[in-house]
Amino acid sequence: MNERIYNFNPGPAAHPLPVLEEIAAEFLNFKGSGMSITEVSHRSKWFDEVIEDASARVRRLLELDESFHVLFLQGGASLQFCMVPMNLLPEGHSADYVNTGAWATKAIREAGIQQKAVNVAASSEDKGFSYIPKDISFNPDAAYVHITSNNTIKGTQWASFPDTGGTPLISDMSSDIMSRPFDVSPFGLIYAGAQKNLGPAGVTLVIIRNDMLERVPDHLPTMLKYTTFVERNSMFNTPPCFAIYTVQLVLKWIEETIGGLEKMERINRRKAGLLYRAIDESEFYTGTAEKESRSLMNVTFRLPTEDLEKSFVREALEHGLSGLKGHRSVGGCRASIYNATPLEAANALVDFMGEFARKNR
Ligand SMILES: *Cc1c(COP(=O)(O)O)cnc(C)c1O
Repeated sequence: MNERIYNFNPGPAAHPLPVLEEIAAEFLNFKGSGMSITEVSHRSKWFDEVIEDASARVRRLLELDESFHVLFLQGGASLQFCMVPMNLLPEGHSADYVNTGAWATKAIREAGIQQKAVNVAASSEDKGFSYIPKDISFNPDAAYVHITSNNTIKGTQWASFPDTGGTPLISDMSSDIMSRPFDVSPFGLIYAGAQKNLGPAGVTLVIIRNDMLERVPDHLPTMLKYTTFVERNSMFNTPPCFAIYTVQLVLKWIEETIGGLEKMERINRRKAGLLYRAIDESEFYTGTAEKESRSLMNVTFRLPTEDLEKSFVREALEHGLSGLKGHRSVGGCRASIYNATPLEAANALVDFMGEFARKNR
């Protein structure tokens, strides 16, 4: 195949084409260094500018004030499932978790492994995680409230964040960070593996508020303490330079080409609107998430039979539409339409869905 296809992969996922072109154009000789970005020292001025710019762009896009630190860590979002309770849930306290799917379940499990006191304040497991719970009563003494802002596998998303009455919110935003503006002030910590909405696998964005750092126990291993990375500007050891550089370019694309998070959200709403309308107007496709909990990032749906779902995924690929198979744990179909998936891709998918339904009705 010599043409690029429409990529609906759930993660690793599509990157904006201009970002890939910029990487290709400067790969052999990065900014006159005579080396690629993967060959320069992480202590060089070249990389310093990359990480400083990436961090400044995160601050501007999310309107972070001085109380927040921007960190680039390794270990994926999955390491954050363990680091969050390890660092921020002190002995004698408990934390509230909202269980909205497989990723939240894993976060809860990692806290439990450490014998931390976890209270599942709400769960949507009763209906196969097809909705976001409402009117949750949180423990007023909780150390934090942990949520998963977008549930990549089931296609649900918090339309607005819950009122925790002042308890710091912590969110796994791996699959919707930078897809829409939001008020950061209730958050003590936000984390996101980069490979959905920010760039390649290998780096995890962590945003942590100053007051959270006071909780970090002294006795933790160096590499598992947030304070280590705050004190050394994410460079206690060699950071994932190439991944951070790609994230920098993706953030630049959001700021300078798209024009910021409000515009990004408008495009994301249009894409999701097209797909959900196609699902709702057809008797052939059925959405799996409750309407008011639907995700703008992962559109999950079923066809009348599993055999039809298999043919749908296969024939879509023949039409240049890839990555539409649902997560292996739930089956069905899923179109992941992160920031980098263009409107034309959503349009092409809607056309294909109409054609496939007509042929197979
Ligand atoms: C993909 C994903 C993860 C896992 O991320 P890793 O970086 O692979 O550990 C965690 N949470 C959510 C919401 C995800 O979508």
